[in-house]
Amino acid sequence: MILNIDKNYEGTAVEMRKEANIMLSLVVPVYNESETVSLFLDEVCELFSGITSVELDVVFVNDGSTDSTLECLLRLQALYSSIRIVDLSRNFGKEAALTAGLKVALGQVVVPIDVDLQDPPEVILQMLEKWREGYDVVLGKRINRDSDSWAKRQSAIWFYRIHNRISDPKIPENVGDFRLMDRAVVEALNELPESRRFMKGLFAWVGFRTATVEYVREERVAGKTKFNGWRLWNFALEGLTSFSTSPLRIWTYLGSVIALISFLYASFIILKVIVSGVDVPGYSSVIVAVTFLGGLQLVGIGMIGEYLGRTYIESKRRPVYLIRQIYNTIKD
Ligand code: UDP
Ligand code: MG
Repeated sequence: MILNIDKNYEGTAVEMRKEANIMLSLVVPVYNESETVSLFLDEVCELFSGITSVELDVVFVNDGSTDSTLECLLRLQALYSSIRIVDLSRNFGKEAALTAGLKVALGQVVVPIDVDLQDPPEVILQMLEKWREGYDVVLGKRINRDSDSWAKRQSAIWFYRIHNRISDPKIPENVGDFRLMDRAVVEALNELPESRRFMKGLFAWVGFRTATVEYVREERVAGKTKFNGWRLWNFALEGLTSFSTSPLRIWTYLGSVIALISFLYASFIILKVIVSGVDVPGYSSVIVAVTFLGGLQLVGIGMIGEYLGRTYIESKRRPVYLIRQIYNTIKD
């Protein structure tokens, strides 16, 4: 498929990027972040105040916050003209909020960024340098995981290990949503039709010329993380089942191996009966075999159910998010 990326936008030719004055969209999903939004904006606006070649377009996506985040954002909009606010009708989750933000972003380059300043805004300047050199995607790779708990670090290691073994394309390790993307990449992402969106996977799937910059991930500046253990587990499952059907296929192999073992065992028993007379069958081995196989079958059915559920949700073709209102800047 050739993407019709020229529909709304004439791309910045690579040779023009060096001197181009550009609009930079920051896509910032926020969910109950009244403590952090103004800290974030202060830092970002100060950083870009001296850079005349970059016009800022900060798209906050209010992901159904139940605190005063929206009021804070509206107050800040009166102070900073470069803010737009997309108010979703409820909490749809970070992936959906990012999807909404990418649709609304206007910049030649777009950077999804967390509002808690864990993704340091100054890294965007290095990313822009790479973009000007001709890269379409510049990944922010974290070189430390000190700000995460032990459990989160371990689960991340295992997630990448398993995901990258069974899925294509591979997700680069320790790279989150924080990355710079050229307009062409954003248009490509906007064209992807699926409604269950595992953004890390989709980002990797679209490809494009990619560079990496490294950064140190800081502690959250204020407030609390929204991703507890259970949510992360579901997120990992989502990632694994979004980009691989290996978990489905594995049951065929497992089933075959177990069938082979039982066949060998049956042959062994028959031989034994022939050689040494009637055997009295053991009660415990029967129970072990029955429960083991029963458990295995249930896991297999669960796995199929996981995919069936995804197909079911996908087949409803519901939108990924619903927008209650978009608050544009005062100047337009
Ligand atoms: N977030 C969101 N919707 C959610 C959960 C989180 O928009 O349902 C936003 C949150 O406001 C923040 C970003 O996603 O800007 C990352 O969340 P958080 O810092 O809690 O995640 P962590 O950094 O701990 O993985
Ligand atoms: Mg965070």
